[in-house]
Amino acid sequence: MQKRDYYEILGISKSADEGEIKKAYRKMALKYHPDKNPDDKEAEEKFKEAAEAYEVLSDPNKKARYDQYGHAGLGGGGGFGGGGMNMEDIFSQFGDVFGSAFGGGGSFGGSRGGQRTARGTNLRVKMKLTLEEIADGVRKKIKVNKLVNADGVTYKNCATCNGSGRITRVAQTFLGAMQTQSVCNACQGAGKMIDQKPSDADSQGLKRQEEVIEIDIPAGVEEGMQLSVTGKGNAGPFNGIPGDLIVVIEEQEHEDLRRDGENLHYEAFVNFVDAVLGETIEIPTINGKAKIKVEPGTQSGKVLRLKGKGLPILQGYGSGDLLVHIHVWTPKKVSKEERELLDKLKESENFKPSPDKSERGFFQRMKDMFH
Ligand SMILES: [Zn+2]
Repeated sequence: MQKRDYYEILGISKSADEGEIKKAYRKMALKYHPDKNPDDKEAEEKFKEAAEAYEVLSDPNKKARYDQYGHAGLGGGGGFGGGGMNMEDIFSQFGDVFGSAFGGGGSFGGSRGGQRTARGTNLRVKMKLTLEEIADGVRKKIKVNKLVNADGVTYKNCATCNGSGRITRVAQTFLGAMQTQSVCNACQGAGKMIDQKPSDADSQGLKRQEEVIEIDIPAGVEEGMQLSVTGKGNAGPFNGIPGDLIVVIEEQEHEDLRRDGENLHYEAFVNFVDAVLGETIEIPTINGKAKIKVEPGTQSGKVLRLKGKGLPILQGYGSGDLLVHIHVWTPKKVSKEERELLDKLKESENFKPSPDKSERGFFQRMKDMFH
């Protein structure tokens, strides 16, 4: 999806100064604030978009990178759920933008009115994958020990907040009198308390249990990437919403192939005779084998490129390449007969090294490798 320009989102020019950026953001944040636009998905998206734009443009470092390289300059995210801020982040940023009246997560609409559902914590698991699994994408089962809602728990309204989950106050702000709310301490915002519970449930109505979760890993993931599976983390206290399961990808080293982004590399050793006379050799690929032709007169260090034999590009089209680095194998020991033959060959004018310019140049070889 094409990301919109941050200046365009805030309706300002590139020369806008710090004060103008803040002012423009305030305007957008108030216009699209979820409390003013309940259940309006489009407004919520605009609200988030403006917050993200402000987050970048208000930070001199990020702004400089964005000005120079655009969205690409900010990188980050590693691909999953890329960028984007959640509501908590946005509201915690408000203290800075609107002054202390709006600071903190609780005040000025941390939720759409009413009680806020207590959220379970995220679970993190590591997942080791082979390069073959990464190439094809894979469905995996993982066993996790997590908090689940215990059976037989009953709830009643919280006595402190009468079930609203919040304590409401009226405060004077530069926008006039505004209701501010804070989360009820007694129930942590859930509005509920445990009425009755079985002995295996804790004070929040939860218990630990092993669960097997199936997840689909898309093709092309990389070491260190995090996949988040919504709602598969720990159950929320007081029957709240569950947290997420965060899967951290670990890549197992392949026996023959080395990965570099979407490209794969293979070091092929050919004997001197094949390098001189030419030969078709067999090399391993990620899902089998391939034959490649080593041309007569191939020098050590030559790189052959097999288009599309790399890894699929994550959330994109096509695949990387397999780069085969040719090394001419030099025997470490020779027999008497071999020595005699080699001594004879040495006399030949043909065997004197005479590299041409492209073979001599390091930069030319790098160019060959990347194009
Ligand atoms: Zn309460």
